[in-house]
Amino acid sequence: MPWRGETDPYRILLSEVLLQQTRVDQAIPYYRRFLAEFPTLEALGQADLEAVLEVWQGLGYYARARNLHKLAQALSRAGGQLPRTYHELLQLPGLGPYTAAAVASMAFGERVAVVDGNVRRVIARWMAWQNPSPKQVQDEADELMAVVLSPTGGGLEVFPGDWNQALMELGATVCIPKNPRCGGCPVAQFCQGKTSPERYPAAKQRLQKPVEVVALVLVGPQGVHLELREGRILGGLWGFPMEEGAGALPRLLGRFGLEAAELVGTVRHAFTHRKLRVQVYWANKDAREQPENRPLSRLDRKILELIQSQRNALL
Ligand code: SF4
Repeated sequence: MPWRGETDPYRILLSEVLLQQTRVDQAIPYYRRFLAEFPTLEALGQADLEAVLEVWQGLGYYARARNLHKLAQALSRAGGQLPRTYHELLQLPGLGPYTAAAVASMAFGERVAVVDGNVRRVIARWMAWQNPSPKQVQDEADELMAVVLSPTGGGLEVFPGDWNQALMELGATVCIPKNPRCGGCPVAQFCQGKTSPERYPAAKQRLQKPVEVVALVLVGPQGVHLELREGRILGGLWGFPMEEGAGALPRLLGRFGLEAAELVGTVRHAFTHRKLRVQVYWANKDAREQPENRPLSRLDRKILELIQSQRNALL
């Protein structure tokens, strides 16, 4: 990788922006082309946007190129230098924790850990964590770096940026997702997850199948029928009658002494742990509630919008 060992902040920033967009092998020719056209941050800031987009061409997601150009313009007006600390870098538009940590540690030697997907996996296995939060991983990675680089801890005389790259490389080449090479791993003696490494971190849960629900909107000349909801999530709010599971529609119709209802459409809604696919039916029935006078859940608002868009004349 041409940016390996690089300490020029602009080049590090450029490589990180490119790596957010594409794989290493594809990023390399773009990196070279960018530097040939815009060798410095100032040169990039003074270039026409069109020229920048032309070099970016083929990478897709042009907003990233526009943001990089905007950032270079702002910084070249302010003297052409990137700020030196993680926290200052984080203030720049378009720079997230990963890029800020990469530039701060690799260019300026700040002891801040870069956490990408590889590092997250290494840390999770090292600590035998199944579901660590991003903050837990970042804190642990920072702590680890602080310890190994401190004279009283590991005492390693390593540049923070090199430590970060080493950890990323460990995840990319040794502590790989399937069949990690624990036998040849340089940190195996410290690793708490090495007896069953693939348990850490836990695989992301597959997106669950949505629960099928039926909602019945009863529309009368004076309003709609609403019910006060119960339960932990929607309790206290008002909404349309709903049932889930087999026979949901006949049960709903039975409750209101109806023979049939007309399907209007489908509404999808996600709660934190549950996804719903709601088939919305409507029928005529004397009803008096005005939905704007009642607190409705977001799900019921979606149903109302669907009905209003299709049956405006009836409400
Ligand atoms: S010992 Fe195995 S699981 Fe632990 S860090 Fe090394 S490769 Fe990963």
